[in-house]
Formats: sequence, structure tokens, C-alpha cells
Amino acid sequence: MVNIGGSCGRAANSFLDYCVLIFWSLKLNLVQDVDYIIVGLGIAGTLLSHKLMTKGHTIVVLDDDNPNSASKVSSGIINPITGRRLVKSWMYEQLKEVFTHSYKSIEQFYETSILKPTIIHRTTTSIKDDNLWRTVALNETQFCHLDLEEKPWEGRINNYISFGGLAGYRVDVPELIKCVKSHIETTQSLVIESFDYSLIEFQKEHVVYKEFRAKKIIFCEGWKAIHNPFFKYINLDPAKGEVVKIEIEYPPIKAILKHKLFIVPQADGLYWVGSTYDWKQRDETPTPEKLTQITDTLKGILKEDFKVRSHYAGIRPTTIDRRPIVELHPKHSNLAIFNGLGTKGASIAPFFANKMVDIL
Ligand SMILES: Cc1cc2nc3c(=O)[nH]c(=O)nc-3n(C[C@H](O)[C@H](O)[C@H](O)COP(=O)(O)OP(=O)(O)OC[C@H]3O[C@@H](n4cnc5c(N)ncnc54)[C@H](O)[C@@H]3O)c2cc1C
Repeated sequence: MVNIGGSCGRAANSFLDYCVLIFWSLKLNLVQDVDYIIVGLGIAGTLLSHKLMTKGHTIVVLDDDNPNSASKVSSGIINPITGRRLVKSWMYEQLKEVFTHSYKSIEQFYETSILKPTIIHRTTTSIKDDNLWRTVALNETQFCHLDLEEKPWEGRINNYISFGGLAGYRVDVPELIKCVKSHIETTQSLVIESFDYSLIEFQKEHVVYKEFRAKKIIFCEGWKAIHNPFFKYINLDPAKGEVVKIEIEYPPIKAILKHKLFIVPQADGLYWVGSTYDWKQRDETPTPEKLTQITDTLKGILKEDFKVRSHYAGIRPTTIDRRPIVELHPKHSNLAIFNGLGTKGASIAPFFANKMVDIL
């Protein structure tokens, strides 16, 4: 410690104390207390924010407004029977009970439409595949339709053996995010910026980030959590997916088709077509290789001509064990993570948003 000495030193000390006092009182006045800071406004951050707000908690949300987030490029399909082996989706009945209730209550709150029950028209493409489908359909009669009353894709596509239907859903994820985001904006609680991990200050009961002091920070960053220094240990294995939007020569079709790819009619008359998988690339840039892969497959599927109107890419926050991550940091209990929604955010997110709230 430097001894300045004499009365001059005392004056300097008291001046310094005064400055420190002014600094702290200014800082305390500038600090805004909230219950939770949420990082990321994809489907995870959106559902969590909505849930916390309806429970009366105060929040601030930081999001980098990325147009290529997985939630924004997804088609929001909920498919009860998945994979090559046609097995029922993990925890499907439990998830369904929660997602129907959650989306319906959000629809009522914002007076909008988010969840639509949808029959996914699916084809079989080989004898083996057809036999498997028929066996599964006879066991899972609640979700599978062997016969479809209308087959709008019949005669319009090539190379299939039979048509069946899956009783799934479609979630309007962009509408969901838009509604919750505008509600957060009305309370001046949305900050559009990239979160800077180095600015976190840990206090005894709180955590401070810039002018915000909260009980906890909850990271809902999707695949970008690979850059989060506090959660380096989580087992993310992100999977890039590319998608095109196409225009097909008329007449238009309203039914979703799964025939090698998903072809999903959009409100603007275009069709969402996807998607690819790549576990190596960690960027959201669409590539000519995947464009060729999708358009070549489409040429084999569609009898009509089509035009590609847009092409984009997003990254799914898949985990090695294909299970979501909902936990507090083992050392810093005022940091939490909600991630790992993988390929099934639309069905998984509502259930695990509730779990996240339970452990906060
Ligand atoms: C091509 C494709 C098709 C898909 N189709 C379907 C489908 O049909 N059905 C289905 O259920 N699922 C589908 N998925 C998966 C689904 O999209 C994801 O499971 C889900 O969207 C993940 O949501 P999330 O909120 O965890 O992450 P994200 O949607 O990635 O959201 C995270 C948000 O946090 C922001 N962020 C990250 N780090 C920071 C930071 N440091 N500072 C500020 N903001 C930050 C991101 O930019 C982003 O806005 C698809 C995914 C892709 C890529």
C-alpha cells in the first residue's frame, strides 16, 4: 500500500473514497434487477420466456437476431413415427400432452394460430419398406393411416409403392417467436446483441451482466453453445441442414409429403423442401453441393417442373446421446442451460421448458 502521508494524503484518500462512493452509487442506480436473463430467442428461449413471464417473473432476453437459427429455418413438423425403423418418437405421448396444452394456451394468449393437426402423407419405396410400414401401421393405429381418403400427391410423383398417412402436427415456429418477441419488446426487455461471456460478474446471490442483475442467466443458444466457455462440457454434436423453397407448376397441393424428402406447402404458395444432414460443417452458409443433392432428388420425385426460389441452411443442436439438456451449471448455480433439442424442437421444447422452470 502506498503511504501518501500528511494532511494532503488524507485529503487525497477522502477524495478517492468519494470517487469510489460516487462510482458505486452510480452503478447501483444503473443496475436493473430482473429475475432471469435469457440468452437466445429460438424456440427454447421463446417458450421459456413465455412460461416465466406468465408466472410473473421479470426477464431480459438477449438475442443476436440470427435469420438462420434452427428455429427460423425449421418446418416445425411433429412426426409421431420416425426413423428408418419406423419407431414411435421418444416420449411421444407425454410430450404430446404438454405441447398441445402449451401451444393452445399460447394461441389463446396471443389470439393466434400456432399448432395445426396435420396428416403427413408418406410413401413407401420398396417391398421391404412397404411390409414394415404395414406392420407398424397395424400396431400404431392411433398414429398411422393405411388408407387415405384423398391422395393429392398421387399421379404427381414418381417411384413409390403405396401412400399412407401419419397423424402429426405442424407448429408455426416463426409465428410463435414473433408473438412472444413482440410481447417482450413491449416491456423493453429485449436486447438485440451477441452475449459477451467475459462480462459476467458473479455476486453472492446474483449474477450481473452489463446493467442487468439477475438470480440466474439461462443459456438457450442452440448449436452456438459450443462457444459458451461455461458449458464446454455438454455433449453437443451439431448437424447442419440445408433447405430450399420451390415453386411447382400448378395446381397447388395443401398436404405435406414425405417421399425421400419432406415437401411442405407454405402460406405463400411455395414449398419448403428439406433437409440434408452434415455433422462436419459449422456454418450457416448454403452450399452448391447440397443444392445439387436436393434438386437432383426432387427431379426424381416430382413429375412437374419446379423452380428454386431460395436456398438456406441452419444448424440443429443435436447431442451425442440425442437427449435434451436442462440443467444448472455444476459450479455456478446461477447459470443454467436449456439446449439439445436436436431434430425435434417443436415437440420437445414445451415439455423441457417446463422442466427448466421447475429447476430454476
Ligand atoms: C433444416 C432444419 C429443419 C428442421 N426441421 C424441424 C422440424 O420439422 N421439426 C422439428 O421439431 N424440428 C426441426 N428442426 C430442429 C429445430 O429447428 C431445433 O430443434 C430447434 O429450433 C432448436 O431451437 P433452439 O432454440 O435450441 O436453438 P436456435 O433455434 O438455434 O435458437 C438459438 C438462438 O440463440 C441465439 N444465440 C446463440 N448464441 C447467442 C449469443 N451468444 N448471444 C445472443 N444470441 C445468441 C441464436 O442466434 C438463435 O437466435 C430443424 C432444424 C433444421 C436446421
